Amino acid sequence: MKEVRVRFAPSPTGSLHIGGVRTALYNYLFAKKHNGKFIIRIEDTDQQRFVAHAENYIYESLNWLGIQADESVPFGGPFAPYKQSERMELYGKYASELVEKGLAYYAFDSVEELDAIREKMKEEKSAFQYNGATRGQMKNSLTLRPNDVQAKIDSGDPFVIRLKVPKNQEVKLNDLVRGWVSVHSSTIDDKVLLKSDGMPTYHLANVVDDYLMKISHVIRGEEWLPSAPLHVLLYQSFGWENEMPQFAHLPLLLKPEGEGKLSKRDGELLGFPVFPLEWTDETRGTTIKGFREEGYLPEALINFLALLGWHPGTGEEKEIFSMEELVESFSLEHIGKAGARFDIQKARWFNHHYMKEKADEWFLEDFQWHCRVHGIEMSDSIALKWIHLVKDRITFAKEIWETVSPILSEPVDYEPEVVAAKWNVEARNGILAFADVLEVSAPVDAVSAKEMLNQSVENLGIKPGKIIQILRIALTGKGSGLDLMTTIECLGNQEISRRIRLAIEKFPKID
Ligand code: GLU
Repeated sequence: MKEVRVRFAPSPTGSLHIGGVRTALYNYLFAKKHNGKFIIRIEDTDQQRFVAHAENYIYESLNWLGIQADESVPFGGPFAPYKQSERMELYGKYASELVEKGLAYYAFDSVEELDAIREKMKEEKSAFQYNGATRGQMKNSLTLRPNDVQAKIDSGDPFVIRLKVPKNQEVKLNDLVRGWVSVHSSTIDDKVLLKSDGMPTYHLANVVDDYLMKISHVIRGEEWLPSAPLHVLLYQSFGWENEMPQFAHLPLLLKPEGEGKLSKRDGELLGFPVFPLEWTDETRGTTIKGFREEGYLPEALINFLALLGWHPGTGEEKEIFSMEELVESFSLEHIGKAGARFDIQKARWFNHHYMKEKADEWFLEDFQWHCRVHGIEMSDSIALKWIHLVKDRITFAKEIWETVSPILSEPVDYEPEVVAAKWNVEARNGILAFADVLEVSAPVDAVSAKEMLNQSVENLGIKPGKIIQILRIALTGKGSGLDLMTTIECLGNQEISRRIRLAIEKFPKID
């Protein structure tokens, strides 16, 4: 295989959609797997749709996810510049070269003229295409005399350059995901390559840059598959067939229910992110949260996206992959043809998994911040105990505080069914005895708390199992929850004893 050089070529026209992130990831994995280069090229030729902060957003998103480019605008590289608006003088030259070879032509038809033809054809219930069948009746350098063409150009008449798509040709490409794709040239219209303002269209700039940047594989979304035959024709026209990259068109990301393409609206309607990071739409004045702000870990999102359309092909059940393992296992052969259902529950599942993997200390700063904001002073060692107790249950880091904070203050009420079922004289005597001992003892930990509880109730001839639930209710208000002995350790002797006495006061009176 020649040197692998792949590119992610976003247009900064809005937020980077999560499907675009997957495209970037697959390009990155493929490059790393083959010791190649991953390039980010900004395709900003459409100045009308340009959004100022979109480019930085792309870098910030990919940096957050650990998808590092080898060559890009910020990093530079041997094929700089990596932004099409800085390469403008290149494209005209290549378009003119095709005109000279007779493979493209100048077209002088005005927008109004083309609209009029389209309108007329519509009335006749057919659609106008500027192609091999119609170009002979249009105003272009194939139908006008050479002198007239030159005169028009000299007098500054606006023109575009169109590709002269060959007649009667089967255009074939062997897509690495979809297999052979074959399209008859009569279905391809004479696409504009250079616009009247001298700007290239996507097709021209994309192919010229892929060629100049020595791109070996074009890995991109399936929505670009219809453009691929045109790109093949462009490579042929330029005489670059031998340098033509291989194509791999990735399956669509589908709505959670499996039908239709995943859209921004699906996220809004169903309440999940479809952007990597928070995105502010300045024209609409709206801000939409991204995966990062919703509390997803980059490693979880990477793992989730990697498996949306690709599988390792080993037949094993393995689902957890670090970036290194993905690089190791990745291959284009195992990308599916069918669309991949965007199942946000799976993303949550991955997040849960990676949260469990984090060291307790990782959560400490955030947890202590919450404590401070709520005026609670807590030692790091107690904070870490709480974190440890909760970490395995959560999907998002914020749930640690959400789970622990209600327990940090005395219960507001007590689950009445549990109180009704368990509250009796034995229970009262048992928890009271425990409170008495706690008050005069050195601080307990989970183990000594248990021993102390057992001993103080057994002294009264009560089985510890009989009072454990009422103790929990007295301390937390709830019939179930976190490990009780660790809760006791974290809250401390005096607070536990205080809560027991308070509960006895608040529970129904018994004799
Ligand atoms: N600029 C195109 C986009 O926005 C790139 C398509 C391609 O990769 O060729 O997706």
